[in-house]
Amino acid sequence: MWFKKKVEAKPDEKLKFPDGLWVKCESCGEIQYRKALENNLWICTECRFHFRINCRTYIELLLDDAHLDEQDANLEPVDILDFPEYKKKMKSAQQKTQMREGTVYGFAKIGGAPVVFAAMDFGFMGGSMGSVIGEKIARAIRAAREREHPLIIVSASGGARMQEGIFSLMQMAKTSAELALLNQKKILYISILTHPTTAGVMASYASLGDIIIAEPGALLGFTGPRVIEQTIGEKLPQGFQRSEFMLEHGMVDIVVSRKELRNTLVKILNIVSPANPVNPNG
Ligand SMILES: [Zn+2]
Repeated sequence: MWFKKKVEAKPDEKLKFPDGLWVKCESCGEIQYRKALENNLWICTECRFHFRINCRTYIELLLDDAHLDEQDANLEPVDILDFPEYKKKMKSAQQKTQMREGTVYGFAKIGGAPVVFAAMDFGFMGGSMGSVIGEKIARAIRAAREREHPLIIVSASGGARMQEGIFSLMQMAKTSAELALLNQKKILYISILTHPTTAGVMASYASLGDIIIAEPGALLGFTGPRVIEQTIGEKLPQGFQRSEFMLEHGMVDIVVSRKELRNTLVKILNIVSPANPVNPNG
């Protein structure tokens, strides 16, 4: 790779390829035509790496009629700690994503089965979980319990939002406590882990699903591989903390290609419904 000759495009050739027409795969480095990637649901045609997609695309991909009856869309965070630059970063994330905060939730149907659905958006400040995201996830869980509908959460997150300090960290306990109540009622929770799902989100609701589905090649874990290597002073095995590794080690139940995700959900929802609860003796 180091010796690969760089082929520079001539200036007039460059003009033919406007910005953003080509995308480099962050896994194999292959340059891909954006349109082809889009048609392939943003899965690398060379190595099958699943590029990050936003939560709106998951809504289109997974929900009947691509429709989410979104709840609490107007909730937005308060800069309670007066953290430097937070307001500015928040505003620019809002402009970029056209969302008030990096998670949506609401009511939907999948294969005709009513569900409560939530999805995180990594494009909004790295999917970091602040108090509003925690509150939205907690409300989604509560709605699933009250309606007795299965809950599906698509996670993508770098972890807690440092700009909200302890208010961010307490969302881990809050969402986990809500999930314990959901579990008492024996209502199914399917957690979908996408690239990357790490730290505070992985250490709370993302890893607490009755069924945990991961997209191929996603980085999943609490701390990143580099920090672990530095801490324990050892080289980590290949593929450490990727979906397939986590499947082999029992942290994930199924690794499913994005193309098969909706079908897989339909199959699971057909088997397990609130009228036929998961693990009734558990
Ligand atoms: Zn690739």
